[in-house]
Amino acid sequence: MLDLAIIGGGPAGLSAGLYATRGGLKDVVMYEKGLPGGQITQSSEIENYPGIKEVVTGMELMEPWPEQCMRFGLKHEMKEVTRVTKNSDETFSIYIAGGEEMSAKSVLVCTGSTPRRAGFEGEDEFFGKGVSTCATCDGFFYKNKEVAVLGGGDTALEEALYLSNICSKVYLIHRRDAFRASPTTVEKIRQAENIELVLNSSIKKVYGDNMGLQGVISIDKQGHERDIKVPGIFVFVGMNVNNSVIKQNDGTFLCDTNDSGEIIVDLNMKTSVAGLYAAGDIRIQAPKQVVCAAGDGATAAINIISYINE
Ligand code: FAD
Ligand code: NAP
Repeated sequence: MLDLAIIGGGPAGLSAGLYATRGGLKDVVMYEKGLPGGQITQSSEIENYPGIKEVVTGMELMEPWPEQCMRFGLKHEMKEVTRVTKNSDETFSIYIAGGEEMSAKSVLVCTGSTPRRAGFEGEDEFFGKGVSTCATCDGFFYKNKEVAVLGGGDTALEEALYLSNICSKVYLIHRRDAFRASPTTVEKIRQAENIELVLNSSIKKVYGDNMGLQGVISIDKQGHERDIKVPGIFVFVGMNVNNSVIKQNDGTFLCDTNDSGEIIVDLNMKTSVAGLYAAGDIRIQAPKQVVCAAGDGATAAINIISYINE
């Protein structure tokens, strides 16, 4: 029987693992289906993590975190959790892809979020063949070529800037003429010589052949279409929370969630179910920052230690 099962190994899960093990919990397993680090490892640069003065990649930021946690006894299992249920004896069952089942006295859900699809024609067909959600991963394929970026938030603008250093030109397509991103990032976008703003426009479709993408048809609010001939488009239109692990067989959620499926927690990261906690991007009103996710993880772990000891 585990003291604590942490589901997800991003900044929230890793910080929780550090605080839980260093705080004395003995059997703590962090289930992370991939390499630990979370979604920030896809970011080309991060400059707002306190104490890290240099601009580093997300991968560089997260690289030391797992080793620090393991030193205090956190175990990482590279497994995908499919479901968590609560038993009548107050313990939890953790169901793992492939059929394995574990028991735990407490569970912390830190499964974060994943990029949303925009829903234009051809998006799924060309996903991985010209349509991407990761500039760090795929940007280099378009070195000295023109690409498009869709979205008006921090991710779209920051990744457009990153791509503008690799690609010959970036078309930034956004459905409004105002950006959601922070003003300093918007200013950098406006200064960049090889970024063309295609505003008040959405994407009607993307097209290509079996070799990959060849272009994007944008359409503005007046209905004017434009054929932008690019071999790649990067879609950054927000994130969906990964809440499938708390979905029960009858379709209900194990604990209370809001209309967007985010887990409702209190200031201790406690959910509506005793022994079940949530931290990071998965929780309501998450500021969606690495430092906040890490803080959530630490807060949750401190409270889980009290829960277990009681
Ligand atoms: P995540 O980082 O999403 O980690 C969740 C982990 O859970 C993932 O590793 C996933 O593989 C795992 N997982 C999910 N489901 C399961 C399952 N069923 N079983 C096992 N494992 C599972 N924030 C900043 O502060 N500054 C920035 O500059 C910044 N830039 C960003 C740039 C980009 C491109 C993106 C996408 C995000 C950026 N963010 C930035 C936001 C930041 O990355 C997130 O707020 C933060 O990573 C959230 O941490 P988390 O631990 O809650 O979740
Ligand atoms: P976001 O802030 O939700 O922005 C999504 C953008 O996509 C918006 O501009 C939205 O347009 C647009 N959009 C949504 N659906 C669309 C569709 N179907 N078609 C076309 N456009 C669509 O998402 P994000 O940029 O991924 O950021 C997520 C969170 O992480 C935010 O809280 C952000 O601040 C944070 N983050 C922070 C940093 C940083 O601190 N440096 C970096 C990255 C992310 P509208 O504006 O019209 O709604």
